[in-house]
Amino acid sequence: MGAAEGLMIVILLGPPGVGKGTQAAMAAEAHGWLHLSTGDLLRAQVAQKTDIGLQADQYMSKGDLVPDVLMVEMVAQHLTDVSSEVVVLLDGFPRTIAQAEALSEKAPGGSIALSLYFRASNSELSSRLTGRGRADDTEEVVAHRLKVYHETTSPLISWYQEKGILVEIDANRDIASIQTDFAHAVDSTLKGFSQITG
Ligand code: AMP
Repeated sequence: MGAAEGLMIVILLGPPGVGKGTQAAMAAEAHGWLHLSTGDLLRAQVAQKTDIGLQADQYMSKGDLVPDVLMVEMVAQHLTDVSSEVVVLLDGFPRTIAQAEALSEKAPGGSIALSLYFRASNSELSSRLTGRGRADDTEEVVAHRLKVYHETTSPLISWYQEKGILVEIDANRDIASIQTDFAHAVDSTLKGFSQITG
Protein backbone atom coordinates (compact mmCIF):
# COMPACT_ATOMS: atom_id res chain seq x y z
CA MET A 1 0.00 0.00 0.00
CA GLY A 2 3.07 2.23 0.16
CA ALA A 3 2.21 4.39 3.15
CA ALA A 4 4.68 7.17 3.90
CA GLU A 5 7.33 6.62 6.60
CA GLY A 6 6.78 8.17 10.03
CA LEU A 7 3.02 7.85 10.06
CA MET A 8 1.20 6.65 13.12
CA ILE A 9 -2.05 5.14 11.95
CA VAL A 10 -4.94 5.03 14.39
CA ILE A 11 -7.80 2.81 13.24
CA LEU A 12 -11.28 3.77 14.45
CA LEU A 13 -13.69 0.88 14.83
CA GLY A 14 -17.30 0.83 15.87
CA PRO A 15 -20.84 0.44 14.54
CA PRO A 16 -22.51 2.97 12.24
CA GLY A 17 -23.96 5.82 14.29
CA VAL A 18 -21.57 5.46 17.21
CA GLY A 19 -20.23 8.98 16.58
CA LYS A 20 -16.66 8.09 15.66
CA GLY A 21 -16.68 10.45 12.66
CA THR A 22 -17.70 13.40 14.83
CA GLN A 23 -15.17 12.42 17.47
CA ALA A 24 -12.40 12.03 14.89
CA ALA A 25 -13.12 15.41 13.29
CA MET A 26 -13.02 17.14 16.69
CA ALA A 27 -9.84 15.39 17.80
CA ALA A 28 -8.12 16.11 14.47
CA GLU A 29 -9.01 19.79 14.75
CA ALA A 30 -7.88 20.05 18.38
CA HIS A 31 -4.57 18.18 18.04
CA GLY A 32 -3.50 18.75 14.44
CA TRP A 33 -4.06 15.14 13.45
CA LEU A 34 -5.28 14.07 10.02
CA HIS A 35 -8.81 12.70 9.78
CA LEU A 36 -9.16 10.34 6.83
CA SER A 37 -12.77 9.19 6.43
CA THR A 38 -13.41 6.79 3.55
CA GLY A 39 -17.15 7.57 3.76
CA ASP A 40 -16.39 11.29 3.28
CA LEU A 41 -13.98 10.56 0.42
CA LEU A 42 -16.60 8.40 -1.29
CA ARG A 43 -19.39 10.96 -0.80
CA ALA A 44 -17.16 13.60 -2.42
CA GLN A 45 -16.62 11.30 -5.41
CA VAL A 46 -20.37 10.66 -5.65
CA ALA A 47 -21.11 14.40 -5.55
CA GLN A 48 -18.56 15.02 -8.33
CA LYS A 49 -19.98 12.11 -10.34
CA THR A 50 -16.52 10.65 -10.99
CA ASP A 51 -16.16 7.07 -12.28
CA ILE A 52 -15.35 5.87 -8.77
CA GLY A 53 -18.29 7.83 -7.38
CA LEU A 54 -20.74 6.36 -9.87
CA GLN A 55 -19.53 2.83 -9.09
CA ALA A 56 -19.50 3.35 -5.33
CA ASP A 57 -22.95 4.94 -5.20
CA GLN A 58 -24.61 1.68 -6.25
CA TYR A 59 -23.29 0.02 -3.09
CA MET A 60 -23.56 2.97 -0.70
CA SER A 61 -27.21 3.72 -1.46
CA LYS A 62 -28.11 0.16 -0.44
CA GLY A 63 -25.88 0.06 2.63
CA ASP A 64 -23.53 -2.48 1.05
CA LEU A 65 -19.76 -2.31 1.17
CA VAL A 66 -17.85 -0.90 -1.78
CA PRO A 67 -15.51 -3.64 -3.17
CA ASP A 68 -12.19 -4.11 -1.37
CA VAL A 69 -9.98 -3.44 -4.43
CA LEU A 70 -11.47 0.00 -4.89
CA MET A 71 -11.17 0.87 -1.19
CA VAL A 72 -7.61 -0.40 -0.79
CA GLU A 73 -6.54 1.63 -3.82
CA MET A 74 -8.24 4.77 -2.50
CA VAL A 75 -6.70 4.55 0.97
CA ALA A 76 -3.25 3.66 -0.44
CA GLN A 77 -3.36 6.80 -2.56
CA HIS A 78 -4.19 9.01 0.41
CA LEU A 79 -1.63 7.46 2.75
CA THR A 80 1.12 8.09 0.21
CA ASP A 81 0.04 11.70 -0.04
CA VAL A 82 0.29 12.50 3.68
CA SER A 83 4.02 12.14 4.26
CA SER A 84 4.29 15.06 6.68
CA GLU A 85 1.46 13.98 8.98
CA VAL A 86 2.36 12.18 12.16
CA VAL A 87 -1.02 10.89 13.31
CA VAL A 88 -3.63 9.68 10.82
CA LEU A 89 -7.09 8.82 12.13
CA LEU A 90 -8.43 6.19 9.77
CA ASP A 91 -12.22 6.39 9.98
CA GLY A 92 -14.30 3.78 8.12
CA PHE A 93 -11.36 1.67 6.93
CA PRO A 94 -10.64 -1.21 7.24
CA ARG A 95 -14.16 -2.67 7.15
CA THR A 96 -13.23 -6.23 6.13
CA ILE A 97 -10.45 -8.63 7.13
CA ALA A 98 -9.13 -8.42 3.54
CA GLN A 99 -8.83 -4.63 3.86
CA ALA A 100 -7.08 -5.01 7.23
CA GLU A 101 -4.61 -7.48 5.74
CA ALA A 102 -3.87 -5.16 2.81
CA LEU A 103 -3.27 -2.30 5.24
CA SER A 104 -0.95 -4.33 7.49
CA GLU A 105 1.04 -5.66 4.56
CA LYS A 106 1.75 -2.34 3.02
CA ALA A 107 2.00 0.07 5.94
CA PRO A 108 5.60 0.53 7.14
CA GLY A 109 6.61 -1.45 10.24
CA GLY A 110 4.67 -0.57 13.35
CA SER A 111 2.81 2.33 11.78
CA ILE A 112 -0.54 0.82 12.73
CA ALA A 113 -0.07 1.55 16.38
CA LEU A 114 -3.56 1.70 17.82
CA SER A 115 -7.09 0.63 17.12
CA LEU A 116 -9.83 2.45 19.04
CA TYR A 117 -13.10 0.61 19.39
CA PHE A 118 -16.08 2.87 20.12
CA ARG A 119 -18.68 0.80 21.91
CA ALA A 120 -22.29 1.92 22.44
CA SER A 121 -25.59 0.28 23.35
CA ASN A 122 -28.11 -0.51 20.60
CA SER A 123 -30.67 1.99 21.92
CA GLU A 124 -28.07 4.78 21.87
CA LEU A 125 -27.08 3.83 18.30
CA SER A 126 -30.56 3.86 16.82
CA SER A 127 -31.37 7.28 18.29
CA ARG A 128 -28.09 8.72 16.91
CA LEU A 129 -28.58 7.19 13.45
CA THR A 130 -32.11 8.48 12.98
CA GLY A 131 -31.02 11.98 14.04
CA ARG A 132 -28.39 12.40 11.26
CA GLY A 133 -30.49 12.94 8.11
CA ARG A 134 -27.94 11.50 5.66
CA ALA A 135 -29.14 10.22 2.25
CA ASP A 136 -28.24 6.64 3.19
CA ASP A 137 -29.90 6.88 6.62
CA THR A 138 -33.37 5.58 5.71
CA GLU A 139 -34.66 2.93 8.10
CA GLU A 140 -34.18 0.08 5.65
CA VAL A 141 -30.64 1.05 4.63
CA VAL A 142 -29.62 1.67 8.25
CA ALA A 143 -30.82 -1.80 9.22
CA HIS A 144 -28.81 -3.30 6.37
CA ARG A 145 -25.67 -1.30 7.28
CA LEU A 146 -25.91 -2.61 10.86
CA LYS A 147 -26.24 -6.18 9.58
CA VAL A 148 -23.20 -5.75 7.30
CA TYR A 149 -21.29 -4.24 10.22
CA HIS A 150 -22.05 -7.16 12.53
CA GLU A 151 -21.28 -9.82 9.92
CA THR A 152 -18.29 -8.37 8.12
CA THR A 153 -16.69 -5.54 10.08
CA SER A 154 -17.08 -6.48 13.75
CA PRO A 155 -14.65 -9.47 13.45
CA LEU A 156 -11.95 -6.79 13.14
CA ILE A 157 -12.39 -6.05 16.85
CA SER A 158 -10.93 -9.40 17.87
CA TRP A 159 -8.47 -9.27 14.97
CA TYR A 160 -6.86 -6.10 16.40
CA GLN A 161 -7.32 -7.35 19.96
CA GLU A 162 -5.18 -10.37 19.08
CA LYS A 163 -2.53 -8.00 17.74
CA GLY A 164 -2.54 -6.34 21.16
CA ILE A 165 -3.37 -2.84 19.93
CA LEU A 166 -7.09 -2.55 20.71
CA VAL A 167 -8.34 0.05 23.19
CA GLU A 168 -12.04 0.26 23.96
CA ILE A 169 -13.85 3.56 24.49
CA ASP A 170 -17.25 3.73 26.16
CA ALA A 171 -19.18 5.81 23.63
CA ASN A 172 -22.43 5.90 25.60
CA ARG A 173 -21.17 8.99 27.40
CA ASP A 174 -21.12 12.69 26.51
CA ILE A 175 -18.90 14.00 23.72
CA ALA A 176 -16.38 15.68 26.04
CA SER A 177 -15.68 12.53 28.09
CA ILE A 178 -15.17 10.51 24.92
CA GLN A 179 -12.79 13.17 23.55
CA THR A 180 -10.71 13.02 26.73
CA ASP A 181 -10.31 9.23 26.47
CA PHE A 182 -9.64 9.46 22.74
CA ALA A 183 -6.84 12.02 23.15
CA HIS A 184 -5.37 10.13 26.08
CA ALA A 185 -5.22 6.84 24.15
CA VAL A 186 -3.59 8.47 21.10
CA ASP A 187 -1.13 10.50 23.20
CA SER A 188 0.08 7.53 25.24
CA THR A 189 0.54 5.43 22.12
CA LEU A 190 2.29 8.33 20.41
CA LYS A 191 4.84 8.54 23.26
CA GLY A 192 5.79 4.89 22.84
CA PHE A 193 5.74 5.28 19.07
CA SER A 194 8.16 8.26 19.05
CA GLN A 195 10.62 6.30 21.20
CA ILE A 196 10.70 3.49 18.64
CA THR A 197 10.86 5.62 15.50
CA GLY A 198 12.97 8.44 17.00
P1 AMP B 1 -19.44 5.79 6.44
O1 AMP B 1 -19.52 7.27 6.22
O2 AMP B 1 -18.14 5.34 7.03
O3 AMP B 1 -20.64 5.26 7.17
O4 AMP B 1 -19.49 5.12 4.97
C1 AMP B 1 -20.61 5.28 4.13
C2 AMP B 1 -20.65 4.16 3.09
O5 AMP B 1 -19.48 4.19 2.28
C3 AMP B 1 -20.70 2.75 3.66
O6 AMP B 1 -22.01 2.34 4.00
C4 AMP B 1 -20.11 1.93 2.51
O7 AMP B 1 -21.05 1.74 1.50
C5 AMP B 1 -19.04 2.87 1.97
N1 AMP B 1 -17.71 2.64 2.60
C6 AMP B 1 -17.00 3.51 3.38
N2 AMP B 1 -15.84 2.98 3.76
C7 AMP B 1 -15.79 1.73 3.23
C8 AMP B 1 -14.85 0.65 3.27
N3 AMP B 1 -13.70 0.74 3.97
N4 AMP B 1 -15.16 -0.48 2.60
C9 AMP B 1 -16.30 -0.61 1.89
N5 AMP B 1 -17.23 0.35 1.82
C10 AMP B 1 -16.99 1.52 2.47
